Amino acid sequence: MIVTRFAPSPNGPLHWGHAYSAIVAHDLAKEAGGRFLLRIEDIDGPRSKPELADEFRRDLEWLGLEWEEVPAQSTRIGRYEAVARDLLDRGLLYPCTCTRKEIEKLSPRIGPDGAIYPGTCKGRLLDPSKPAALRLDLDRALAEAGELTWTDTIAGEQAVAPQEFGDVVLVRKDLPASYHLAATLDDAADGVTLVTRGKDLFHASHVHRLLQALLGLPAPQWHHHALLLDCEGRKLAKRRGSPAISDYRKTGEDGRAWAQRLRQGEWPVGISRA
Ligand code: GLU
Ligand code: ZN
Repeated sequence: MIVTRFAPSPNGPLHWGHAYSAIVAHDLAKEAGGRFLLRIEDIDGPRSKPELADEFRRDLEWLGLEWEEVPAQSTRIGRYEAVARDLLDRGLLYPCTCTRKEIEKLSPRIGPDGAIYPGTCKGRLLDPSKPAALRLDLDRALAEAGELTWTDTIAGEQAVAPQEFGDVVLVRKDLPASYHLAATLDDAADGVTLVTRGKDLFHASHVHRLLQALLGLPAPQWHHHALLLDCEGRKLAKRRGSPAISDYRKTGEDGRAWAQRLRQGEWPVGISRA
């Protein structure tokens, strides 16, 4: 059975890019007689506004979608911590006390998560009074996992190549898990078989497939859909003031009609698809 999910973070209102993503995931599941899940990704500390989750549910309802809600990330922290301990015991993680500024100064190479970490803290004795993140030792992880592939239903089979992330952070200084660790564990726990999300996260799937292999989790398939862009060709973003769909809902617009338009490739004014 196909199981897809929509996994918004309650750090700002949903915009049309989210609506499109939710509709794609919903329809892929429903057309195949499968399940569509909603998971609130609410571990981003002070940026997380729990009251937004309820707005999200109303937005999805307004769009005419039907979903099953699975537990929010904030209820799963014990599991993230246990898995991080296991990886640490296996020598696959190491602590890093570098700040973002220090890394930017040290590394001219930029990957999908920012400056690529040059491995400064690996094998080093660290100041225990400084907060530490835990990074994946990518060389060891790749040696242990062997050759891997993953499959995107649009782009086809991909050889796992997470090198552009460098030694990626799995446990943040301020949080019990990074996006990569939490999303990988949750998708497996929720039985997601088709991870549906925007193309901006295509490369992250290399990291997620590697983590699945290290943790003995089943490999789903992925569906990375095209992104909606604003009139300057940029990805829609809360921080750039992309309009909130809750504003349309609250002014009495017909959400089901909007969902139908998005399905047919008609976008709100000022929005296009990549
Ligand atoms: N919470 C993530 C976001 O809103 C989910 C990304 C994903 O679908 O994996 O970007
Ligand atoms: Zn470091």
